[in-house]
Amino acid sequence: MSIQVKEVSKFYGKQKALDNLSFEISDAEVVGFLGPNGAGKSTMMKIITGFLPQSSGEVFVNGMNVTEHSLEIRKQIGYLPEHNPLYLDLYVKEYLEYVAGIYKLGKKKKQRVAEMIDLTGLGLEQNKKIGALSKGYRQRVGLAQALIHDPKVLILDEPTTGLDPNQLVEVRQLIQDIGKEKTVMLSTHIMQEVEAICQRVLIINKGQLVADQASNSIHSIKESHVFDLQFTSPVSKVYFENIEGISHIEALADNRYQISAKSDVREQIFLMAISNQLVLIEMKAQERNLESIFHELTR
Ligand code: ADP
Ligand code: MG
Repeated sequence: MSIQVKEVSKFYGKQKALDNLSFEISDAEVVGFLGPNGAGKSTMMKIITGFLPQSSGEVFVNGMNVTEHSLEIRKQIGYLPEHNPLYLDLYVKEYLEYVAGIYKLGKKKKQRVAEMIDLTGLGLEQNKKIGALSKGYRQRVGLAQALIHDPKVLILDEPTTGLDPNQLVEVRQLIQDIGKEKTVMLSTHIMQEVEAICQRVLIINKGQLVADQASNSIHSIKESHVFDLQFTSPVSKVYFENIEGISHIEALADNRYQISAKSDVREQIFLMAISNQLVLIEMKAQERNLESIFHELTR
């Protein structure tokens, strides 16, 4: 097991950012860590990497308690923080050599830097100042920095935020390649990213785990039916609530409603309309994509 998080909570003063969170990530798994802004993703990642202490609970990386072995653990983890702090005045190569020095790579230093420049496609940029690079290339420098000591575990906090569509494709491809050999946990609020890169998805909301699924099985999550309805007059919520299996009712403009249910309740809705003399003029089952499941789980 690469990462074990056991009943971790985190308070910033009185504010609870993580609420009794538990999960495990196996060796060489690529896991998407998803949640809306403020869900607690960055906080969890800072705790796993030993940069922030939890308020309660325990975290193990490669079997070692993060609180007790924070220095040893930093050697085994590559971390790309959300706001990747780079030294804008340093040249790419110079910066990577500096990082290699921190990890005491010694004789291997020059060779590792060259390998990382090659791996992250920074060849043409290596003699430029970091401050002169585009966001996509800075992100590659961040990845090179995170990988330079050949860590077994990679923690990437929003690695593709702010990239243009071409850069996005390239950086995703890079992460996929890296993920063949390493344990990768990457946070994002983009669903397609998880579908593209990850085998598994952990979704958190308000500091709590709301889903832990193989990313190709998330479609079968509990409330997997959503229907868009339109009537000619308003419908009292009670009518919907009386139908078994309906778990969420959202009233929209123009007598439209969006219904989430655990099963296909179209027939019951039709019969409910008849018995209450309501005129149902549209009923459409929504195509379920990860995006809508995400909204449902985190609303
Ligand atoms: P995410 O990365 O999912 O957007 P964060 O982990 O950054 O979420 O934040 C989780 C919650 O903790 C948010 O409500 C945020 O405002 C709060 N928070 C994060 N960092 C701090 C901090 N240093 N001091 C106080 N509150 C914080
Ligand atoms: Mg964050």
